[in-house]
Amino acid sequence: MVLDITSVLSGEKSRLDIDYMLTLPREATAEHAVNLADVTFPTPARVTGQLTDNAGYMRLTLSVVLPYVTLCARCAKEVRGAFSIDFARTVVTEGMVEDAEEKEEDFAVSENGKLDIDRQLIEILSLEFPMRVLCKEDCKGLCDRCGKDLNEGACNCNKSEVHPAFAAILKKFEEK
Ligand SMILES: [Zn+2]
Ligand SMILES: [Zn+2]
Repeated sequence: MVLDITSVLSGEKSRLDIDYMLTLPREATAEHAVNLADVTFPTPARVTGQLTDNAGYMRLTLSVVLPYVTLCARCAKEVRGAFSIDFARTVVTEGMVEDAEEKEEDFAVSENGKLDIDRQLIEILSLEFPMRVLCKEDCKGLCDRCGKDLNEGACNCNKSEVHPAFAAILKKFEEK
């Protein structure tokens, strides 16, 4: 959603409420951040928040719980979860912030009286969504030889055929 904040910039209003359903198509997220490459957000999620103005100091707060689907980083099984975002950012108008780097990191920048709320949320996701999601904390993953899901039991692979370089390391573990 793009929020029209002209009424706040003109001083007519000091607060705008935000309440909408966010849909995040893959094109909006997957291509923009490596941590979101395998993540889809299949259902719309309700975003609530406010833009408040206190004598020219504008603050944006947003809150959303986003259901997601991704693949376990170890066994590639489908994992479903929900990612919560709760954040607040200072809002500035373009030109107010000179340093481009600062602009990206700390501020939500409005352009032509508009503030792109979806973009703020995608930015937060690209910064905070975990790089690796596991189906469970102790997921055993797949056998790197036969591909069997080791959560369902051991496979019959001959582990002694391991590459000699790894064999020595593995042997140490087995001795323990
Ligand atoms: Zn797993
Ligand atoms: Zn195996």
